[in-house]
Amino acid sequence: MKIFNTLSRTKEEFVPLEPGKVKMYVCGPTVYNYIHIGNARPMIVFDTVRRYFEYKGYDVNYVSNFTDVDDKIIKKAIEEGVDAHTISERYIAECKKDMEMMNVKPATTHPKATEEICGMLDMISELIEKGHAYVGGDGTVYFRTRSFKEYGKLSHKNLDDLQSGFREIKVTGEEDKEDPTDFVLWKPKKEGEPYWESPWCEGRPGWHIECSVMSKKYLGESIDIHAGGEDLVFPHHENEIAQSESANGKTFATYWMHNAFLNIDNKKMSKSLGNFFTVREISEKYDLQVLRFFMLSAHYRSPLNFSAELMEASKNGLERIRTAAQRQRDFLADAREGAILPGEQEACETARGFVTKFEEAMDDDFNTADAISAIFELVKLSNSTVSAESTKEYISFMKETLEKLCNVLGIITEVKEEILDSEIEKLIEERQQARKEKNFARADEIRNTLLEKGIVLEDTREGVKWKRA
Ligand code: AMP
Ligand code: ZN
Repeated sequence: MKIFNTLSRTKEEFVPLEPGKVKMYVCGPTVYNYIHIGNARPMIVFDTVRRYFEYKGYDVNYVSNFTDVDDKIIKKAIEEGVDAHTISERYIAECKKDMEMMNVKPATTHPKATEEICGMLDMISELIEKGHAYVGGDGTVYFRTRSFKEYGKLSHKNLDDLQSGFREIKVTGEEDKEDPTDFVLWKPKKEGEPYWESPWCEGRPGWHIECSVMSKKYLGESIDIHAGGEDLVFPHHENEIAQSESANGKTFATYWMHNAFLNIDNKKMSKSLGNFFTVREISEKYDLQVLRFFMLSAHYRSPLNFSAELMEASKNGLERIRTAAQRQRDFLADAREGAILPGEQEACETARGFVTKFEEAMDDDFNTADAISAIFELVKLSNSTVSAESTKEYISFMKETLEKLCNVLGIITEVKEEILDSEIEKLIEERQQARKEKNFARADEIRNTLLEKGIVLEDTREGVKWKRA
């Protein structure tokens, strides 16, 4: 498997730190609003990376944080007259709903910055002790970039160039900085802001320290993959490396992966430019599987321009796959038993070839665009060979193969129709009536209909109870 590593700017063979295991950290969103579809790109991309590792048999420990203390959260809290925690908890819950709709698996751990302050205080103290950080007159703690010889290795920047770029810019409140490239680890509170006690001042952490601390706590000092959008390369990830490697004396992450931007009119979609759509808005128009399919239709390192035409094309592509999957299910229901036919054997071989193509595409730095092409070839083969004449064994093979590949991309091939509570209750009543009339065939039929829609009935002494499976 080859992964493009931002550190070396080349595709490298993937070698895990521990055989069979992948430790991966993905920088998550700052939660002060609904996430926009630009934020959804890393979620979908790295969820797919995770799924592919799992498909290959790796045990993946996937950590993704929520940044729940930040100027924008505080500003929003002040606007609404509530505390910052209320804002962040609200949008974490909404973000999790969006993730579920996009079929993004929950991370193994979703740490929150505000719950990891102790670890941050420890790491900052350690950095001060080791001479990598210092305290300004007002209690601000800065990281001393000059103390970390490899500063700039990820973003391929050089400290002297960076310093000259900063020369004219003086940030108020940061006059005690030894060097303009030094960055904040801890800063004093401002009036009305949330704060924590610390040895230096009552205050709150800078942004970068949280990821170094959470990654270490949940995954260890060295991890396999650290990922996020390309805007995080500098300064966020560069600073994370400086903090972690200075504190731990070990390589922080072997591979650094960055997705390109989701653009709109060829400009980065962002909250600050105001040119964004939230995932929730898109969900009102489309099944979010369409959004997922759209995101994966391009390679993750290529910029992707959001447009109604491309969304329509994705909708059609998804539909083609789902129709093929439905055809397989329909024919499978009454397929004949018996040995697989020679023509079917041959088609199975062709299908295996498409699986290989799919895997080759994914092995080549997760080329989901080519992986989707392999799926379309499989779909075409299925449509032309699965029929009322096919054997059960053949259809099952084709169905499992298609589902297996779609699952890597997080594409759901079977859409379960939503059933309303009131409809369920009506059917249950009808079933009770049927049983009274000893029409057990109808009663069973209703039970099965509900089961197909994921509703499980339980006959208890107090009557019939139901739950969604
Ligand atoms: P933020 O909440 O701004 O920290 O962003 C959370 C994640 O979304 C980070 O990995 C960002 O790099 C990523 N991100 C934000 N905007 C975009 C965009 N337009 N395209 C792709 N990724 C983005
Ligand atoms: Zn981070």
